[in-house]
Amino acid sequence: MKPPHIRSFSYHYREKYGQPIGKIAVDIGHTCPNRENGGCIFCRSAGFTPAYLLKTDNIAVQIAKGKKSLLKGRFKKYFTYFQQETATAMAAEQLLPICDLALRDSDCIGIIISTRPDYIEDELLSGLAALLGSTGKECLIELGVQSAHEKSLTFLNRNHSFEDVRNAVQRIRQYKVFETGAHLILGIPGENEADMIATVQTVCGMGINAVKLHHLQVIRDTPLHDMYVREEVRLFSFDEYSQLLLKILPFIPAEVTIHRLWTTSHPDILVAPRWNILAAVLSKKLLRKMAENGIYQGDKCY
Ligand code: SF4
Repeated sequence: MKPPHIRSFSYHYREKYGQPIGKIAVDIGHTCPNRENGGCIFCRSAGFTPAYLLKTDNIAVQIAKGKKSLLKGRFKKYFTYFQQETATAMAAEQLLPICDLALRDSDCIGIIISTRPDYIEDELLSGLAALLGSTGKECLIELGVQSAHEKSLTFLNRNHSFEDVRNAVQRIRQYKVFETGAHLILGIPGENEADMIATVQTVCGMGINAVKLHHLQVIRDTPLHDMYVREEVRLFSFDEYSQLLLKILPFIPAEVTIHRLWTTSHPDILVAPRWNILAAVLSKKLLRKMAENGIYQGDKCY
């Protein structure tokens, strides 16, 4: 069988499970500890919240509502996605029962935990590994990495180092039951194309299983918004970003799953860039360009 131009989330899990797999986001109501330090300059919590999700609902209700919304379509199975804030900042003894509840649902194939690299405790990893052993399900730990360059992590006010990322990936991989993912932002002010490719190569070289790529977006009422108003931030046009992806995707190994290629924030809070193109159309345009030019993910990984 011919390899896909991009090993997308939908391609990968359809291949693995023989059916489309969705994601149901939940909010455990724990605030990200980086907010005490002013938060990352691009982030505000409402930037990542699906419409059906109310953090005042308990987790069982959130999952039930998510299932009602997701499973009425083509999806029968799903990942529970701990997407909001920094879920692992919650004490392991509180978080593990929530993960257990999620994993026990027969339609749930696993959990995805989105978090910071400096909030990965061994107590949580060992507890999660035990849950996976007893349920036979899977767990992807997605780390907010954004860049492999310290100057960029400082610029974004991440308040962790790239060494924290290396350390977290190494400790997670030691368990051999987790998959590891990385969120990366493309277009951080001060980074050029070579810097972005270097980030992708460095992160993929650590043996991660998944990436989420984001073009830099300006969300209303964030420090980045202030910089944008002061004209200190330059953003990609869709064509520029597509051209960049065509250059970067060949450096991502073919077996790495690409969960996302761009952010799609709600128009109410998105300041810029406003491409006004649906994500499905963006994907179609990119894939057409890859096909026309014979470009495949992983082409430049030797
Ligand atoms: S670590 Fe994540 S949730 Fe916390 S401020 Fe940064 S982007 Fe937002």
